Amino acid sequence: MKYNFISKTTLDNIINNYISSLPECKQEKALINIELLERIKKILLDPNNKEIDVKNTREWAKKHFVLEEITPGDYRVILKNNNKPVLIVENMYEVLCRIHAETDNHAGQKQLWESVKQNWGFVRQEIVEKFVNNCTVCATRKPSFHPLANKPIIAKNYLSQVQVNYLVIK
Ligand SMILES: [Zn+2]
Repeated sequence: MKYNFISKTTLDNIINNYISSLPECKQEKALINIELLERIKKILLDPNNKEIDVKNTREWAKKHFVLEEITPGDYRVILKNNNKPVLIVENMYEVLCRIHAETDNHAGQKQLWESVKQNWGFVRQEIVEKFVNNCTVCATRKPSFHPLANKPIIAKNYLSQVQVNYLVIK
């Protein structure tokens, strides 16, 4: 499925801006990419093994995630605090586009955030909001917030033109 209302590059920029706005110590685990997901899996498959990864990441992984066995030997990583599978960065574009267009029918920021939370873990509200802000379909649906554009500029110009004519004739 191809989506035309926002480009992958736009979402990549939103994600990069979000990450770089965070303090450096938080950047590494702000979102989860496929590589970090594999590290979490490895830790949780052998939680007492101190040889795997660094202490800080082991503790973080065990604190926030559990494994769910989908088929024998095949696990997915679930976020403990909402019991939803982790949405990795690599799948974010496809998932956000699909929910926003097909489930929500471009219903806005709040709705997308709610729908995403119902299905996925470890997504950031700020990214979801900026995603909707950059949707070209939503942009055309927004009501106009430019009251000045409706002021009778033409009438005013017409009036001054009349006055000019009047002066000339006189
Ligand atoms: Zn939209």
